[in-house]
Formats: sequence, structure tokens, C-alpha cells
Amino acid sequence: MESDGKYYISVLFEYDNHTTTYVADKNNAIGLDYASDGLYTDHNGNKGSNHKYYRESYKKLAKEQRKLSRKVGSSKGSTKSNNYLKQLRKVNKIHRHIANQRLDNLHKLSTEIANQYNVVCVESLNMRSMSNKGFGNGKATMDNGYGMFLNMLEYKLSDRGKYFVKVDKWYPSSQICHNCGKIHHEMKDLKIRTMSCDCGYHMDRDQNAALNILEEGLRILIDAA
Ligand SMILES: [Zn+2]
Repeated sequence: MESDGKYYISVLFEYDNHTTTYVADKNNAIGLDYASDGLYTDHNGNKGSNHKYYRESYKKLAKEQRKLSRKVGSSKGSTKSNNYLKQLRKVNKIHRHIANQRLDNLHKLSTEIANQYNVVCVESLNMRSMSNKGFGNGKATMDNGYGMFLNMLEYKLSDRGKYFVKVDKWYPSSQICHNCGKIHHEMKDLKIRTMSCDCGYHMDRDQNAALNILEEGLRILIDAA
């Protein structure tokens, strides 16, 4: 029984997995760049996000938490009243709902990608540095569950006999002009949102990075073959 008063059952089963192994198909590949304000940007410029899903739930949570703080028993060490415990269950239920919404969204997005593409190239990220405040908004980063998303992609692609390629985290995906290959150190500044190169190339920062991740991922895959 969870703290929201609900019961959960877990079932473990085994099945024969007959998958055909796909030939790594460049034309059916996608590159994903991590986005701190969402989940990812792909090489076509499409964005996967999840924050909007919880905004409503968070409003509700804040409201119920305020109510909880006014109940008898909310201060440390005091005896919890029945009304307090009742309200606590309500708060826990919203927490659970948010966790379910997040998980559901990550499953939907990862299943869609794993069904559609044979090769998925991502940047391997240092999860610890991502959750620290230096990496944009700490709360937003913790919320978006990117690590969980990558794990889902990895096993779903593997289940389908497809390819999940991790590009080294030191590969400067956001600093390379995708058109001419010139390194732009100024792109280390996250405030610069567009890659503008002397070669005449102008591209959204995240999409440029995703294009580079795709190219580098395909190179790794072909080298390994
Ligand atoms: Zn260039």
C-alpha cells in the first residue's frame, strides 16, 4: 500500500522474444539534444517536452499543501489530527498523480520514437551535473526525467532489434557548425540561442546540436560495424 492509500500489484512474466535485427538505416535515424527547458530537441527541430502536463497538477498540489499546513498536527512534534491525516493522503495522491503523468508521458514519447526510427543518437550526459544549479534551472532539470527517458529508449530499441547510440559527453555538439564544421566557443554561453557561422549557416542552437549528435552517432555506429 502506498502513502496515497492505493494498492499496487507487480506481475513478472517471461516471453520468447523474436525480433528481427534491423540494418542500421541512416535514413531512418534521429538525433536528440537534451533541452533543459523541455526534454529534447530532435534534428528536425521538433521538441519533446513534459512540463506543461504538470503545471495544472502543481497548482493543485500547492493549494492542498497550503491547506495541510493549516491543519492541527502540521507543526513538528505535535499530534496529528484526523483532518491532518486526511489532508496528507490527499497531498500524497496528487504527488502520485504527477509521478504517473510524468511516467506516462515519457513512455509515450519513447515508444513513438522507438517505433518510428531504427537508429536513435543521443548525448550521454552526466546526470549529477545536470541536476546541479549551474546547469540552468535545477528544478526544471530534475522534473524532466531525461535519464529515465534515455533508459526507456535504450530498452525499447533493444527489444525491437534497433540501435541506441550514445555520443561521448565531451563531444562539443552545440559548438560545431553543422554546415562547415567550424568550432564556435562562444556557444558555451547557453544564452546564445542561434548558431550563426561565417559560412552563412544560421540554425537554432538545439537543432544544430541534434544534427551534430546524429552525424556523430552514425559515424560511431558505422565504425563499430
Ligand atoms: Zn559554418
